Amino acid sequence: MSAAPAIPLTSVFADTFPEMATPWRAADPPGPRLLILNRPLAEELGLDPDWLETPDGVRFLTGTNLPEQAKPVAQAYAGHQFGGYSPRLGDGRALLLGELHGRDIHLKGSGRTPWARGGDGLAAVGPMLREYVVSEAMHALGIPTTRSLAVVATGKSIVRENLAPGAVLTRVAAGHLRVGSFQYARATGDADLLRRLADHAIARHHPHAGNALELFQAVVGAQAELIAKWMLTGFVHGVMNTDNMTISGETIDYGPCAFMDAFDPATVFSSIDETGRYAYGNQPAIAQWNLARLAESLLPLFDDDQEKAIVLATEALGAFRTRYAAATITGMSAKLGLRTGNAPLAEDLLAHLAAEKADFTSFFRRLAAGEESGEWVDRWRAENPDTEAMNRVNPIYIPRNHLVEEALADAEVHHLLEAVTSPFDERPELARFAAPAPPDFGTYRTFCGT
Ligand code: AMP
Ligand code: MG
Ligand code: MG
Repeated sequence: MSAAPAIPLTSVFADTFPEMATPWRAADPPGPRLLILNRPLAEELGLDPDWLETPDGVRFLTGTNLPEQAKPVAQAYAGHQFGGYSPRLGDGRALLLGELHGRDIHLKGSGRTPWARGGDGLAAVGPMLREYVVSEAMHALGIPTTRSLAVVATGKSIVRENLAPGAVLTRVAAGHLRVGSFQYARATGDADLLRRLADHAIARHHPHAGNALELFQAVVGAQAELIAKWMLTGFVHGVMNTDNMTISGETIDYGPCAFMDAFDPATVFSSIDETGRYAYGNQPAIAQWNLARLAESLLPLFDDDQEKAIVLATEALGAFRTRYAAATITGMSAKLGLRTGNAPLAEDLLAHLAAEKADFTSFFRRLAAGEESGEWVDRWRAENPDTEAMNRVNPIYIPRNHLVEEALADAEVHHLLEAVTSPFDERPELARFAAPAPPDFGTYRTFCGT
C-alpha cells in the first residue's frame, strides 16, 4: 500500500487539548468499498477525487491510510441527553482525523473507542447514506451544516435489529466543538482549560468576539439564525442534546432527523422522544435551554464576580428570542416574496397551514404559481409579492422521508441526491421527488444510534 500523498492534515485540536483528545486509530475494514464520494467537496479540500477512488484513497477515507504526521483522536465531551446530564459521553464511534485547511475531517463508524461504553463503535450503511443525503440537501438549501465527503462500506456485518452492512462516513465540519465540549471542560474544574477552549473557539469560529461573553453572544446569534432556518424549512432535528449542538452554528448529528410534510408544530419523528421534547415547535425553546447550559459552563470567564456573571449571561441569553424572531420574520417575508416583514400575515398563514394540514414545502411553490386561493391568499396578493424571488428561496425538492426510505431500500441515492442538491431548479423528469408522501406511507418513525 502506498502512503497517502502529501495531505496537509494538521492536529491542532489534538495538540492543543490533550486533556480532551484520546489518541486512537480507526478499525481496519475487512473489505472497504466506496459507496459514494462527494467530488466537488473533495476538490474544495484540495483532495484529488480520482485518488480517493483508488484503494489507497478509500483507505484514507476510512482513516487507515493517513499521512505520517496525522494524530487521529476521539474527542471528549459531556452532554444533557433529553434533559439528563451525562458527564462523560465523547466520541464512542467517531474520530477526528485532523484539520484540513481549517476544517475538521472526521469519521463516524470507525470502531470502538475508550468512550464507547456499551456501544459497538460501528455504523450501518443505511443511516450513513441517510446522513450523507440529508446533510448535503441542507447545505444546498443554504442551511449551515456539517458536510459529507464519502461513505465507505466496510465489508463487515454489524448487529442491529437484524444484521446490517457496516459503513464509515467521512464527515467535514467547520469544527466539532459542541456545547457539551464546554460542559466537559467546565466539569474538570480546570479554569485554564476552559479559558483555552474559549480562546480556541473564538479564533476558529467567532474571530470578532473579543472575550468569552462575546463568544457566547456570537453562539447565541449563530444558533438563533440556524434554528430559524430549520423552522422555515420544516426540519426536525430530533435529538437536540447539548452534545449535538455546535459552537460553530452548523447543524450536526443526523440521527433521527426528518422533514415535516403537513404543517404541525407537534411533529415528532424520533421513536424515543416520547414526551415530544424535541418536537418541531419546541426547537427554539430547546436551543435556548441548551445555550443556558453553555452559559453556565462559561460563567467563570464572564466576570470574577459570579453574581455579575449571571446577570451578564441572562442578558446575553435573552437576545436569542429577539434574534430568532427577527430571523423568522425576515425568512418568512422572503418565502412570501415580500420586501418588508409582515408579522400578522405570517402568523395567520401558519394558523391557516395548520388548519389545512397543508404540505409545508409545496405550499409556497403553489402560492407563487397562483395555485392557491382563499381569504388569506387575497390578503397576501394585495402586498404585491415578487413570485420569482419566492422561487429562489422555496425549495421544490427536499429529502422527503418516503423518498429517503425508498432510496436506502434500493441502495440508490444518486437520483435523490441530484434532486435535493439543486433544490430550487424545477426539472420535470424529477417531478416525483417534489410530491409529498402517498397516504399509505403512514406515520414516519426514526431511530437513534443506528
Ligand atoms: P448520539 O445520540 O449519536 O449523539 O450519540 C450519543 C453518544 O453515544 C455519543 O457519545 C456517541 O459517541 C455514542 N454512540 C452512539 N452510537 C454508538 C455506537 N454504536 N458505539 C459507541 N458509541 C456510540
Ligand atoms: Mg452526537
Ligand atoms: Mg448520532
